[in-house]
Formats: sequence, C-alpha cells, structure tokens
Amino acid sequence: MKPEISVVWLKRDLRWRDHAAFDAALKHPYPIVALYCFEPELMSAPMHSDRHWTFVQESLNDLERFLEQWNVPLLSGIGEVEEGFDLLREAYTIKTVFSHEEIGIGLTFERDKRMLTYFKEKGITWKEFQHNAVIRGLKNRYRWNELWHEYMHSALIHPDFNQVSKAQQGITKPERWFKETAFSSPRKKSRQAGGVRKAWKYLESFFELRGKGYSGGISKPERSRSTCSRLSPYLAWGNLSLREVYHEALKHKAKPGWQRSMQNFISRLHWHCHFIQKFEMECSVESSLFNRGYEQLPFNENQVAFERWKNGTTGIPLVDACMRCLTETGYLNFRMRAMLISFHSHHLFLRWKQGADHLASLFLDFEPGIHFPQIQMQAGLVGVHTLRIYNPTKQAQDHDPQAEFIQKWVPELRGLPADIAIEPWKLSPMERMMFDYPQLEHYPEPIVNLDHSAKKARDLIWNFRQDPTVIRENARILVTHTLPGSRNR
Ligand SMILES: Cc1cc2nc3c(=O)[nH]c(=O)nc-3n(C[C@H](O)[C@H](O)[C@H](O)COP(=O)(O)OP(=O)(O)OC[C@H]3O[C@@H](n4cnc5c(N)ncnc54)[C@H](O)[C@@H]3O)c2cc1C
Repeated sequence: MKPEISVVWLKRDLRWRDHAAFDAALKHPYPIVALYCFEPELMSAPMHSDRHWTFVQESLNDLERFLEQWNVPLLSGIGEVEEGFDLLREAYTIKTVFSHEEIGIGLTFERDKRMLTYFKEKGITWKEFQHNAVIRGLKNRYRWNELWHEYMHSALIHPDFNQVSKAQQGITKPERWFKETAFSSPRKKSRQAGGVRKAWKYLESFFELRGKGYSGGISKPERSRSTCSRLSPYLAWGNLSLREVYHEALKHKAKPGWQRSMQNFISRLHWHCHFIQKFEMECSVESSLFNRGYEQLPFNENQVAFERWKNGTTGIPLVDACMRCLTETGYLNFRMRAMLISFHSHHLFLRWKQGADHLASLFLDFEPGIHFPQIQMQAGLVGVHTLRIYNPTKQAQDHDPQAEFIQKWVPELRGLPADIAIEPWKLSPMERMMFDYPQLEHYPEPIVNLDHSAKKARDLIWNFRQDPTVIRENARILVTHTLPGSRNR
C-alpha cells in the first residue's frame, strides 16, 4: 500500500517560519512532502527571467537543508504542477494539499483553477491560507485598513516541526521524478542571493545599523542601496513574511534617532499589501489599464527607441546608469524605478506593457501585485493621481549631484566634471576638443529633447483626461480602490 501523506505545495512562500501551510500540515497525522515546480509555462512568461529562478533555487536549497533535519523531503524539478502531482501520486496517497494563496499573474491564476478541478477529481482536499494581509474576494476597501492592522498585529505562526508524524522517518523520495531535479543557472555576485538565512542577515543589518539612514537615503540611487532594507526579493519570494518584518520594525520604532525612518519604513510595508490588494481585486491590469480610457492614447511604436531604453544607450545619463545598474544587479530604489518607467512612457511615449514586462524580468523582486499597479500609476495612466513626468536631469542634479552613480555605471562619462557627466550634450564641439575625453565619443547623443518630449506627453495625457471613458473609469477606480479618507499613493 502507498504511504498516505500531506503535501505542502510551495509557491511564493519559500520559508519555514511564520508559515501557515507547514503549521497546518504538521497538525495533521500524516507525514509531509514539500513540492515546488519550476513551471515551464511560467518560466517562459515575458516578465520572468533566469535571475528569478536562480533566486528560487537558492531559496529551495536553504529550505531543503532545514527540512532535512526532520526528514521532510523537498521535491522540486522542471515540470507543470499537474505533472508534479501525478508523479507524487504514483508513490503516495495524497490526503491533503496545503498552500498559500498566490496573488500571481494570469498564468498562475489559471493553473490554480485547473488544480482545483484536479484535486476535486482525485479526491484530494486543498487547504489554502491567506498571503500576508491580502484578502481574497474583497469588493471594496472600506474595512481593509482595519483588517491589515489586525493581521499584522496577530501572532506569528511558527510551525513546530517537533510535531512531525512518527511515520515521517519512513518517507522516502519517489523512484520516478522529474528528469531535471533542479534549476541551476549561476548567480552573479552582484545580485542578492535567495534563502531564509540570507534574508535574516539583510533584516538584522537593517535594524541594527543601516535603517537609521533610511529616510535620508531613500531617493538617492547610490546611497539607497545600503540604507534601504533591500528586503524586497525576500518578501516577493516569501523567504520572509511581511508580518515577520513588521514585528521586527515595531521593536525598533522608538529607538532614539530612528523614529522618522521607522515610520516611513512601516508605511512602505502598508503600501506593499495595499498595492497587492488592488491587483487581487483587478488582476486584469497585468495586461490592460486600470483606466481603459487611456488605451486609445496614440503611443509610439518605435522599436529602436525601446531597444535604446532597454540597453541603456538613450544618451540621457541617469536613465542609462539606472538601466545598466538594474540589468547587472536586479535592484533600483523606488524613485529611479519610477523615473525609468516615466522616461519610457512619457519621454519616449511607448506603450506601457512592453516596458513593464522588461522591468519585471530585471527586478529580482518582481511582485506582480506591486509592479503592474505601480507601473500604470507612474506612467500617469490611472487618471486619479497627479501626473508626474520625471526630468532625469533634474533627478540627477538633486539625487546624484556628484554624478557618482552615473559614472559608476556609464564608463563613457567617467572623468568628466559632474555637471557635464549629467548633461554631456551641453558641451560645444569646441569644448569637446578642449576637454579631450575620447571615451565621450562612444556615448550617444540624447534620444529626445527632454523639455519637448515632456511637454508633448503632458499635453496628450491631459487632453485625454476629458475623455468620457477616462472620466467614467476614474469614478469606478475611486470607488473600488481608494482607502477611506485617503488618496492612493
Ligand atoms: C515602476 C515600479 C515598479 C515596482 N515594482 C516592484 C516589484 O515588482 N516588486 C517590489 O517589491 N516592489 C516594486 N516596486 C516598489 C519599490 O520600488 C520596491 O519595493 C523597493 O524599491 C524595494 O526596495 P527595498 O526592499 O529596499 O524597499 P524599502 O524601502 O526598504 O521598503 C520595504 C518594503 O516595503 C515594500 N515597498 C517599498 N516601497 C513600496 C512601494 N512604493 N509600493 C509598494 N510596496 C513598497 C517592499 O516590499 C519593500 O521591500 C516598484 C516601484 C515602481 C515605481
């Protein structure tokens, strides 16, 4: 007879602490097998790239080392989820599947619907648990703030692995399993490594030291890399739960000299779920706009401009530095992310979706529920916020005045005085000769005149604000997504 088991189906919850699914599985009488599938369909989605799966693999390696102590096998491999469960069913009788709800893209939503039918047909019970403070099936935001606070202040659910069933000792891995047992693509040293233990190192150094400078550094492309928490990939792939981070933040909230930084940090944790909740309530924004009215804007179809943006060769130094840095490291602070998409969608006036997918594939912390709503908001295509068109030169003057970040990532501009590195087009041909910086010859002329492109975009988007569909959609968005007593950020 096949052994009876519970399965913990892992998705974006790759940890063992504050984990409701492991906790519930441990309270059942059956031994546990943990499963993660590297789904080929998902892996080939345009918003994903190898860097995501490398991070996931590292997280699984860490989790596997932890689970080994309790003889809980973690099975992973490249294959669709149905195949994974089919293989498990050859070796075991699955009684119950435990997982967290996934606030993912259309592909994962469809897969979950298929799995619901699959489990029903096979007589398997499927128990799902809430993902952070995001509430399934909510129709409006009237009570959401209250529910967020309730959840964040509730006790952490640390599974007690001492409770593993005695039969766990007898559980062996199935004989037949996915051909490739692991996804392995070497990680660049410049990117954060996945795993619970790594996540806690970042968390501890933030609350012990780095976090004091959080508010001062948040807008600076270079300084933010050490003064921001850098917890986003660990939250996105679930090496940490948001509640764990929140509980830690509360412990440090009142430290002398830290109050402002901690207040600002805690408000970001609130935004985290606020955005994901929007997406949960309107997940179609992965591929269409919140405000359908703006779909008719006459966007450019300029592939050359898109490629220059992607490759960091627009000739606008801060834009190129950000894109090259992101391509290499997988991280940018909030302001520079907003500036990159504003440049794409305003100055180049390109359609938002292509830019959104490209950035998602580069962000190590790609979180659909934050990403797509933020992109649309920063591109000025929601309609209910103030339109903000970033001027990359002004951003550089304000936040990288010594051109430290620019020159780090754009070697063609190294050695130039900071003001020239920020606006190289201001050099006359005569000055270019006098300066004698031959490497500058390799840096392109600016792709646009920033004043002209900003004005054109502003006029087009403002005129559309009068469009009847835009007005109608605005009213709907305000009712559905706005928190009582506040405007969305
Ligand atoms: C166009 C655009 C796309 C973005 N896409 C993503 C994404 O895919 N994944 C992602 O995690 N964040 C995204 N953000 C939000 C934000 O830029 C990052 O969360 C933040 O820069 C991550 O760095 P950190 O962990 O050091 O953040 P910290 O400033 O230390 O903040 C702590 C945590 O709070 C949350 N947070 C911070 N800022 C925001 C915000 N503005 N909105 C919602 N949550 C926030 C994140 O989970 C973050 O890890 C995006 C922002 C923009 C403008």
